[in-house]
Amino acid sequence: MTHPVTLAARHSPRREADATHAAVSQAVLDGVDVGILACDTSGQVTVFNRVCREFHGASSDGSMTDQFAAARLNLYRADGMTPLPFDEMPLGRSLREHEVDGEMVIAPVGLPVRLVTYQGRAILGNRHQVVGAVVVMRDVTEQRAAERRLRENALRDPLTNLPNRLWLFQATEQALREADATGDSVALLFVDLDGFKLVNDDYGHARGDQLLVRAAERLRAAAVDGEPVTRLGGDEFVLLCPGLPSTGRAHPTDLARRIISSLSQPYTVQGHSVTLSASVGIALADDAGLSAEQLVGRADAAMYAAKRAGRSQWALHSGETVTAARAAARIEKRLREALEDGSFEVHYQPIHRLADRVIVGVEALSRLPDGEGGYVSPEEFIPVAEATGLIGRVGETVVRQATRECAAWKQQLGGREFSVGVNLSVRELADPLLVSRMTAALRESGLDPQALVMELTESIFSDSAEHNLVLDELRALGPQLVIDDFGTGYSSLSYLRRFTVDGLKIDRSFVADIANDRGRWVTEAIVAMTLGLGGFVFAEGIETEAQLTALVGMGCVLGQGYLLSRPLPAGAMTALLTAPPRRPAALLTTPPR
Ligand code: C2E
Ligand code: MG
Ligand code: MG
Repeated sequence: MTHPVTLAARHSPRREADATHAAVSQAVLDGVDVGILACDTSGQVTVFNRVCREFHGASSDGSMTDQFAAARLNLYRADGMTPLPFDEMPLGRSLREHEVDGEMVIAPVGLPVRLVTYQGRAILGNRHQVVGAVVVMRDVTEQRAAERRLRENALRDPLTNLPNRLWLFQATEQALREADATGDSVALLFVDLDGFKLVNDDYGHARGDQLLVRAAERLRAAAVDGEPVTRLGGDEFVLLCPGLPSTGRAHPTDLARRIISSLSQPYTVQGHSVTLSASVGIALADDAGLSAEQLVGRADAAMYAAKRAGRSQWALHSGETVTAARAAARIEKRLREALEDGSFEVHYQPIHRLADRVIVGVEALSRLPDGEGGYVSPEEFIPVAEATGLIGRVGETVVRQATRECAAWKQQLGGREFSVGVNLSVRELADPLLVSRMTAALRESGLDPQALVMELTESIFSDSAEHNLVLDELRALGPQLVIDDFGTGYSSLSYLRRFTVDGLKIDRSFVADIANDRGRWVTEAIVAMTLGLGGFVFAEGIETEAQLTALVGMGCVLGQGYLLSRPLPAGAMTALLTAPPRRPAALLTTPPR
């Protein structure tokens, strides 16, 4: 918006030049987007540009002096409350102090309130005497508001509108310092939704987000003493309980129970009822000088422990939980990477017919490369896979690879009897996709279902009706069911009468003990019982010739162990199966002379 400039009517070259000059100056002054005002030594305003007029709501042809006077009434200090005292007016100060800057608020009646910054300078004549002053003003209202919004947003999670991680760390730090001073304690509750990932996968992220918002509401309602609920990210929330016990709030474990019960009520997603559970880790700041980061880390570790203990539980932090949780978190990361980039491996341990040592099958054993040329033991990563819900993907990878490779080996062996065993974790039975995964693996590989052996541990034979249903469905696919590590579980022989299993695998601890009378008797009894029930018996962990001979003597037909072969990568297994038959042992054992 430019201000019309009126030229003087009388024509004299000098006057005309002056008028042109004034018009150009005015046009320049009005063209800029900062407020500019100037005065002479008496304080009489000589420049009051367009932006200034807009700040003050002055019409373009108003008297500057009057405007200036009127505007004075609408000036406030930067707090927006204290009217600006006369001796703080920027022009006057510039005349006196030569260089000034500051902020003030302009709040003319009926116009938007503006926050402006100003810079004022005295104007010096050719003898360095002050001849006036000029002030430049910038409107920073929007900029400051945006900055404030940014600051607030930086502390808030946009989805749930809960305070975020940054806020949590700041508030926890403050609560800890206060607790140090008062001798109180601070607790953090780390909440993680169990199985949320499945919802995201099954219903999509938008529905997943809705569920998170719903969970956030429930958490806020559960925090009856007004404990702040924050969202750390994903499906992780943290509640802060400061000032324990002096604030008289409920014990954190009560809060944890309330949270678990509230979060496990069904949710409705897309008209479907979805049930989730939650695991809660509690950390109490019991030593002074703890940082917020340490306390959050402890609560996280305790949450992990709660998950490992079977979900839908709470756990209190202790020294061991931290170490265990750190190790588990490392393994989880490695496992995700390996499943993602295809570096997860399946090895095979041959199963021999003990009498003639012919290989009649293999057991598939999963192998997680540790990134340093070795492997993380399944004893370590299977529990982590179970706790994190990754066991489904592990199982799928193993069964697809195992059935495919077994089908190829069977073909190479010309249809000779050959089977592949896969281990099934109890947790997998709870996975609704298990049966369809098995069906797909069998179909895609073309493997005769009879050649697939499912190794289940005794804990699978619980009284859980759901498990039994899944077991029936699995059995209907045609594979053989075998009880693994028999004798180590929480054994109740009654299930052997109720369930039809095709065989038992004697745990290697019995085999290791076979040289002792007691070990031998127990093993003999297990073999006799299984044969009596019409099943077949495997022995695992055969490490010596003596063990093998003893097992054959008892009627144990099949076995595996380091004596016969260690688990091998698929390539080595193929080589072993297709190698020409070994020469009779007698020829090889010519004693050295
Ligand atoms: P398991 O099913 O009882 O497997 C036999 C374990 O004994 C294997 O350990 C094998 O390497 C080991 N072994 C074989 N012969 C001998 C021997 O002569 N002496 C000794 N001391 N050990 C021997 P691994 O591969 O470390 O697997 C450990 C366990 O992890 C397995 O025990 C199984 O329960 C579980 N596991 C392995 N892979 C999977 C999998 O893909 N899914 C599930 N759910 N569990 C698995
Ligand atoms: Mg096994
Ligand atoms: Mg075993």
